[in-house]
Parts: sequence; structure tokens; C-alpha cells
Amino acid sequence: MRNIESSEFERRKVENFFSLKQPYKIELEKNEGETNLANIARKAEQEYCWAFDEATSTWHYYPSREHSEEVSRLKGRSTFKATIPSELLQPPSDSSVFYHIHPDSVVTRLLSKPKKGWHSEEFLRVSNQLPKKDDLEKAAKLKGYKEFRIVTSVGITTYQFHPEKLESEEKKFSTLSIPQEELYQSLDQSLEDAVKKALDYMNEHYQGIFTFHFEKF
Ligand SMILES: [Zn+2]
Repeated sequence: MRNIESSEFERRKVENFFSLKQPYKIELEKNEGETNLANIARKAEQEYCWAFDEATSTWHYYPSREHSEEVSRLKGRSTFKATIPSELLQPPSDSSVFYHIHPDSVVTRLLSKPKKGWHSEEFLRVSNQLPKKDDLEKAAKLKGYKEFRIVTSVGITTYQFHPEKLESEEKKFSTLSIPQEELYQSLDQSLEDAVKKALDYMNEHYQGIFTFHFEKF
């Protein structure tokens, strides 16, 4: 038996896409939904996640129950960890993509108290576009999603986990350091070039266990 609440949940209007306190299922084309996610990333104070079912063009959203923030000012990193809602641990269908946003506020917070020799805003935007160790761990854990996407106001980073390429566990989440000078050099071309440069390093490092791709809006 369905109560009123669950039937409301079944189909919410497109305007409700931005009401992140309520769970929803909204039918909306993939690229339009991605544009909405970029707009959310522009203003959000924390991460949120969605599943998009390509078979029905439906966005599934559930509020995350807990958030923790890890700020390392020394390393120029700030990570908001959103607990994945239990409803999204299984994909809605086998043609589903898992999405989460990396909000701009991560960058603005780090810039709010700059130190001498601090990274440039552009550099921090590149960093915010990259999957973090935690994201890769989630991708390896969430079975059944065809791919994972991080949306920022700048663009979309897509990554996939290929367990069949895994010969030993040790390489899976091994830390990778991308030469910062090279990223700054690429930033002289464009932010897009710098993100692609970083992802080239990641593709090479993970040898097909994880694959990465970036597209600017
Ligand atoms: Zn993330």
C-alpha cells in the first residue's frame, strides 16, 4: 500500500530538482540534469549525490545522512565527505550512472585565508575537478553502476573501475603525486588542459584499473 508521501516521491516536478532536503525521482534529460548539478555545485556548501537511470532518463536523489569535512590547509585540500544514502548503494537499473558534486565552496574556503606561497585559485579548481582517494574507494565498492561522474561548475570528470584489470590489491588506491609545476605549466594554456594533464597522470598510474576522462561545460 502506498501512502501519500511515497506517491509524492514517485514523481516530483523538475523545479524540485534543487530541493535537496527531500528525496525525489525526476524525469529529465541527462545533459539538462547535469546542468542543474553544475548550478547546485556553484552554491552548495557540501557534497550531494544522485543516480541517473539512462533507461528511463530519471534522476534519483536521496539526502545524505551525515557529512564530515576534512580540511588540510597545509596541503591545500578540503574534502567534504557525504555518506552515500543507502538507497543509492544499488543502482536503479544496470544502465545507471552515479553522480556527485564537488562544490565551489571547497575552493573559496581555501582561498578565504590564503598563506604565502598558496596555490592559485585556478590550481585549486583543477584539484577540485579530480576524484579523491575516497571517490575511488566508493567507485570500487558501489557495484553495478556503469560509470561515476563528478560535476563542478567547470565541467564533468567521468571515471570507471575495471576490477578485471586488478592483478594485486596493492596498486588499487596507491597514492599518486602529480608534479605541480607541470599542472601550472598546463594552466598557462587553460584550466581544461591542466585537468586533462592531471587525468593523464592518473590514467597512467592506475594502468586501466581506473580510467578517467574530463569534459568542460
Ligand atoms: Zn568526491
